[in-house]
Amino acid sequence: MPRSRLINAVLLGGWLLAVTLLAYLVRQPLAGFAVAAALALIWMSWSMQRLRSLPAPSVTPADTPAHPGHDPRRVRLLAAQFRALRNAVAALPDAVVLLDDQCHALWFNPAAGALLGLQRPLHLHCNLREQLRDTAIGDWLAAGANEPLQDAPAPQDPLRHLSLSLIPVGESQRLLLARDISTLARLEQMRRDFVANVSHELRTPLTVIHGYLELLDPEDVPQLAGVLNDMRGQSKRMAQIVEDLLTLSRLETQTGANEEPVAMAPLLATLRREAEALSQGRHRITLEVETPADLFGSLKDLHSACSNLVSNAVRYTPSGGGIRIRWERRDDGNGAFSVIDTGYGIPAHHISRLTERFYRVSSSRSRDSGGTGLGLSIVKHALGMHQARIEIRSEPGQGSTFTALFPAARMLLPIAAADAAPVD
Ligand code: ADP
Repeated sequence: MPRSRLINAVLLGGWLLAVTLLAYLVRQPLAGFAVAAALALIWMSWSMQRLRSLPAPSVTPADTPAHPGHDPRRVRLLAAQFRALRNAVAALPDAVVLLDDQCHALWFNPAAGALLGLQRPLHLHCNLREQLRDTAIGDWLAAGANEPLQDAPAPQDPLRHLSLSLIPVGESQRLLLARDISTLARLEQMRRDFVANVSHELRTPLTVIHGYLELLDPEDVPQLAGVLNDMRGQSKRMAQIVEDLLTLSRLETQTGANEEPVAMAPLLATLRREAEALSQGRHRITLEVETPADLFGSLKDLHSACSNLVSNAVRYTPSGGGIRIRWERRDDGNGAFSVIDTGYGIPAHHISRLTERFYRVSSSRSRDSGGTGLGLSIVKHALGMHQARIEIRSEPGQGSTFTALFPAARMLLPIAAADAAPVD
């Protein structure tokens, strides 16, 4: 094999391997290969165009090539590599579509036909936003596609689930990657159904056991008083876990139902009363209402999210500590509901995992205070339904601040306050 061909092959192989390896490290090997291959394809097609556009050499047949780009062997080599790479991308099960800055499809592989309904030559150079309008993917493209779209129905077959991402390529082109995640979605649905069914089945027997335990008076059987109290405590804990699992299942399957204007003043007053009842006078509890704004959302889910944050603050703050419940409108118009405590705090390396199911910093502390390990998962899901997110700041030994951030679009200002509000 000539040296230049060997070097080119090594360079190309190295490029594909490096990007695939990088993608493997972030657990996206197939997507990584697709990006690497597509970028190499673009580069090679650009190189070939450049070679072809060079002026014809004014040399006699006896001359050697004046410019390496004029070497017919190199052109043939590049063409062969280009074809090999195009075949590799064509064989990918993921759809790969090269888009210009106006969203016109410049090139796509055959999988784009099955997953996105694109056919050659009909859809070459068509505007993909227009082509897929009135679909979740079309809406996502129209909105800028800044974040990956995790689960969207395929345009041709709504039972097929797709995950999509848009990757900038060079100055004006973008690469659309679409992957069929139907199997994953089916497994996820099975998991959700299983958890919901088990929780539902456990609810009735647990209620019966708990009811009978309540009927037994420890004073009637003093020798079993300790055992009875233990059994009551544990059956109550199990019932709470089942309730929390059912709440999570409901939040996972619910899609933005029951939304209405939610008056914040009574909700905040309720949260304060609940905190005082749980604290039993062991903490200083204050309420700071900095804005008259209400929220648009589901009262039940908002209460569930906020009361979990409040009850955590009470449970993880030693007696004598302080808890502030704060509702404010930030300068950018977003709403912020914060619970600030002077409690145990959380070491930094735990913070990113706190919203995982059953994740606890200290299992014994959580259990002793009646925790199920599901509270912050519920908070995350309930906030997600409101396009809101949780922000956690904490210092071990100093305390924690949990803030639920609501988008400005969900803030309902009284007319006078809205008039006075700064224009963003
Ligand atoms: P749990 O029912 O165990 O409280 P959560 O999901 O509500 O479960 O919280 C997860 C973990 O986060 C808790 O076990 C606790 O370790 C930690 N945590 C939550 N809120 C606070 C807080 N305000 N202060 C300190 N730690 C907290």
